[in-house]
Amino acid sequence: MPETTDVPAVSSPMRLYDTARQAIVPFEPGPLVTMYTCGITPYDATHFGHAATYLTYDVLQRRLRDRGHETRCVRNITDVDDDLLRKARELGVHYLDLAAGEIARFDADIEALEMLPSFSEPRATSAIADIRGFIGMVLDRGHAYEAGGSVYFDVGSWKTFGEISHYSRDEMLAFAAERGGNVDDPNKRDPLDFVLWQPSAPDEPFWESLWGPGRPGWHIECSALALRELGTTIDLHGGGSDLIFPHHECESAQSEAATGEPFVRHWMHQAMVRMDGEKMSKSLGNLVFVSELRKEWDTRAIRLAALAHHYRTPWEWNDQIMPTAATRLKGWLVAGQGDGGLGEARAALDDDLDTPAAIAAIDQAAAAGHGVSAAAALLGVDLSRS
Ligand code: ZN
Repeated sequence: MPETTDVPAVSSPMRLYDTARQAIVPFEPGPLVTMYTCGITPYDATHFGHAATYLTYDVLQRRLRDRGHETRCVRNITDVDDDLLRKARELGVHYLDLAAGEIARFDADIEALEMLPSFSEPRATSAIADIRGFIGMVLDRGHAYEAGGSVYFDVGSWKTFGEISHYSRDEMLAFAAERGGNVDDPNKRDPLDFVLWQPSAPDEPFWESLWGPGRPGWHIECSALALRELGTTIDLHGGGSDLIFPHHECESAQSEAATGEPFVRHWMHQAMVRMDGEKMSKSLGNLVFVSELRKEWDTRAIRLAALAHHYRTPWEWNDQIMPTAATRLKGWLVAGQGDGGLGEARAALDDDLDTPAAIAAIDQAAAAGHGVSAAAALLGVDLSRS
């Protein structure tokens, strides 16, 4: 942040789009802002789409700190999960060894991109006791049932299910089927019910529980970790837009069922980065890796490449993205130290985190011969080194 500047840090409330309310609304947290962003499942190298997501919450935190808040952002690591166990089985390695290697690669990318450190990065496997306790709370309140060695959340008992995604029942069924929801599981009362605890396959890790040996479902880990690390109600929950359903809808339902309190005040989702007409994803194999980009480009240009797109607008990767960002960085470096564009950049970020508008304001100030280091710092771009 700039050390001396005459530009006021706060002139109006910050406004952000809230997925659940489907509108841009004031985001006015207290002095301490608690945030939870769903982290990686460490079974394959992390790609540019992940980086773009975490950069969004990084810039949000930078602006909140600039406005005088303290921020605590938790990013979990899903180190026991269907995808990870399947990949470990394919490779013939222990799932935690596979996870350790991919976590190290991810951490190297995050560090190279100069992201603010997380408040904590808890692992799912660190939370088994918390998860068992959490499932007990949901069962006690009558929102879950046991069947066939599993514990399921009873969606029929939760009247507000669907109020984050606003999807129809048919859309929910389609997404659940596509995203690992086992809609055909005969033990379920409703195909949208989701697993809180499940028996492990013979070659999978298991933990003892009141419901038999097994492992947690996918969604419960984030609910248990958010509660453990940040408390009952968090200010903002983030993640990619592909997590809205079923993951976040299920997280919210089980958290509020367990505690009887609101889970999240504001839901903020990052649009997908596309490549070859599809979302960038491991399963499709159409990926750009940050580790590859780092070999060729300044990491500050990689940051600018992501932030040149608004977080709510899906966009398509192309070959001009990195050269454009590198040219921009060069111009800002030439402009050098100063608070040119700072007021405009702050206003743009307060307006639904409009990073493209902030970048345009900084471009304009730099082109007019003003130093732009303070505004660039708001985007996490350090112009103090050449
Ligand atoms: Zn999550």
